[in-house]
Amino acid sequence: MIAHLIETARKIVIKIGSNTLADSAGRINVSFMEEFAVQAAHLTRRGKQIVLVSSGAQVAGLSAMDKWERKKDLHYRQALCAVGQVELMAAWSRAFGSQGIRIGQILLTRDDFGDSIRTLNMRNTLFTLVDEGIIPIINENDTVGVEEIKIGDNDTLAAQTAVLWSADLLILFSDIDGLYDKNPKEYPDAALVKEVKQLSSLKDHISMGNSNDFGTGGIATKIEAAARVLAYGIPMILAHGGKPGALEALASGAQEATAFIGP
Ligand code: ADP
Repeated sequence: MIAHLIETARKIVIKIGSNTLADSAGRINVSFMEEFAVQAAHLTRRGKQIVLVSSGAQVAGLSAMDKWERKKDLHYRQALCAVGQVELMAAWSRAFGSQGIRIGQILLTRDDFGDSIRTLNMRNTLFTLVDEGIIPIINENDTVGVEEIKIGDNDTLAAQTAVLWSADLLILFSDIDGLYDKNPKEYPDAALVKEVKQLSSLKDHISMGNSNDFGTGGIATKIEAAARVLAYGIPMILAHGGKPGALEALASGAQEATAFIGP
């Protein structure tokens, strides 16, 4: 199913979470980015169009400004993202540049999706970039985004982007193989759910445990992202992005993941 979804999709949005972009020392993982760019380039040569949603501004910021590590106030965190976003895009630019691919940066806030003129502009810009063979890399504009106007997480941003661009497929890269019947970090016997045919009945089939299993682990925003895209007929894959060659392994059917295919 996973390989089939990738095979039949032309327009693919891929979201890469901070966990996937950081190495074990909490630095930005440049070798992951290079390896990802090689795989993404293969897909584009096979006629796929890719839009990336990349977290990691904060991680990249800390890699550059480690003396700010303990600064917790809002302005320092936003300043850190301002520094980190440049570092992040420079690293992506080098990674894709070595594949002969140019990138374009798009920074968005929640308001951008609520305004019809802005959404039309974003849509047209995305289409133009992709038509020109450029890979758009989207992130939330953390420098202007205070809590009240934030989208808040890149799972939601990626789902909104997939809908806006009329993508054929959304892939979320996380630090987990997919959706399990319970939190695998707490329960070693948790079983991977390979296919979600009916998202609305998911809660009947998998144990939510206490609300934290879903609430704080970050799996909740992924399930909401699936609901958001499936409402528009766009399937979603939740997969482990950190495994070697993950994108190609998924495309060839060698890596297991969760396919969300029906609302
Ligand atoms: P990312 O930073 O990649 O977006 P998150 O850490 O926000 O990822 O969310 C993924 C985490 O959700 C997993 O590492 C896992 O610990 C947790 N989780 C909780 N319940 C589940 C579940 N039923 N299936 C999969 N993961 C779960």
